[in-house]
Amino acid sequence: MFLKKIIILLFKGREMDKINDLLRYNDISSFDKNVDIALGNVAIYNDRFNAFCRVYYDDINVNRKRINDSILKNKHKKLAGMIVGLKDLFCYMDHPVQAASKILEGFVPSYDATVVRLISEEGGLIIGHQNCDEFGMGSSTTNSIYGESHNLLDYSRTTGGSSGGSSLAVQANMCHISLATDTGGSVRQPASYCGVIGFKPSYGVISRFGVIEHASSFDTVGILGRHIDDISDVFSVISRSDSSDLSMSKHSCSDVENKVYYRVCVLKNTIELGCLQEEVKEGISSFLNKLGSSIILDEIVFDRIEYCSAVYFSLTTIEANSNLARYTGMNYGYRSMDYKSYDEMLINTRSEGFGFEVKKRLLLANYLFETNDVNKYIDKSISLRKYFIDRFVDIFSKYDFIVLPVTTTTAFKIGSHDSERSDWDDILTTLASITGYPAISIPCSCDKDGMPFGVQIIGNIYGDKTLFNFVKLLYNKNII
Ligand code: GLN
Repeated sequence: MFLKKIIILLFKGREMDKINDLLRYNDISSFDKNVDIALGNVAIYNDRFNAFCRVYYDDINVNRKRINDSILKNKHKKLAGMIVGLKDLFCYMDHPVQAASKILEGFVPSYDATVVRLISEEGGLIIGHQNCDEFGMGSSTTNSIYGESHNLLDYSRTTGGSSGGSSLAVQANMCHISLATDTGGSVRQPASYCGVIGFKPSYGVISRFGVIEHASSFDTVGILGRHIDDISDVFSVISRSDSSDLSMSKHSCSDVENKVYYRVCVLKNTIELGCLQEEVKEGISSFLNKLGSSIILDEIVFDRIEYCSAVYFSLTTIEANSNLARYTGMNYGYRSMDYKSYDEMLINTRSEGFGFEVKKRLLLANYLFETNDVNKYIDKSISLRKYFIDRFVDIFSKYDFIVLPVTTTTAFKIGSHDSERSDWDDILTTLASITGYPAISIPCSCDKDGMPFGVQIIGNIYGDKTLFNFVKLLYNKNII
């Protein structure tokens, strides 16, 4: 056992030794060097571990020169120096985007997603699109036409998903920041497995114009990075109202409340779960013990939490069914060669173009609609969603933050996830998605094999900046 541990550590040491760490983005004099480091890491790791599905070398050369000139003239913008990757769901003008699906083969958008435009306008360097689960449906980046992604710390383990390519790219120092989507945990869960920070904002505060939809009442644009300051800098640039996205909230994120002390509650029934890996249990409890006297800590029970994944899957599959109805082969993307009528074209295009997981969810949605008693599933899910939101309103009238695990375990071996744990993994992240509250996964500790896991902190609705401030405080006090 001991020998095995030493061998694992030696192997990991060698893999990790080859990684060059990116310097901080705001040290702008290092920009050129950073681009070389990032592309060097892409060259060493990408073929094997599969973070980026496309890297845009020609654009990088042009934009790098332009950004460098602005730095030399001291006219650089707020995000100058930042190297950014995009999950394969973000439209980037004149570059293909496919949602990791055959159905979007050949699709090249003629516009930028608003967030992509804002990042570019502020001097960020976009280097490519990243692997993910098809349309963001999955938890291990295995449902992808580009093949699966692998965890840099252990090739046999998952990066998580659906934003696995995005978390891996940050883990492997291929970029400072990845822009991804979090519908039910797709930013927070891979962040936990890869040992990086993953942030899901309050619902509706970041524009989704130009971001390929999964489930519209859940989808958010999330941010992955290594440093909380980088994430909050990007958030301040992209959390703007946008007339192209009418689904945005009218509320803006209030400024930070600086408090003398914070009130935190931990969800007792999540940290005492029988299926929680022992090290995760210990890691979270030692994190809580370190919070100290300036933070008031209580334990509360969140009843009915076990229904989260049922609520999430019934509502998201129905929304996905409607969002994905546009992929007919008629207007863009893949079209089957095998048809004699419009109906046949539609059926064959969708049968050949969508992967197994997407088809499974579309069938489930149709089943939920077809059933004679729609109320049995949908109305119940909607009323449970309301119950969870009411419960959050009540909790946040007494507390500033909720703490819970992000995942039950560290990264599992690809293709071997225990079903009880996988259900609880969905529950732990979908709670904040169902309610629309901001949540973050920050690296907490590691298991005996050196695999990392995060702790999840949920903030009050539109309290995204207060959440960042709290996390900064935790880093400043060496609590994490
Ligand atoms: N695992 C969840 C799902 O498959 C997460 C999806 C997401 O956040 N995009 O639906």
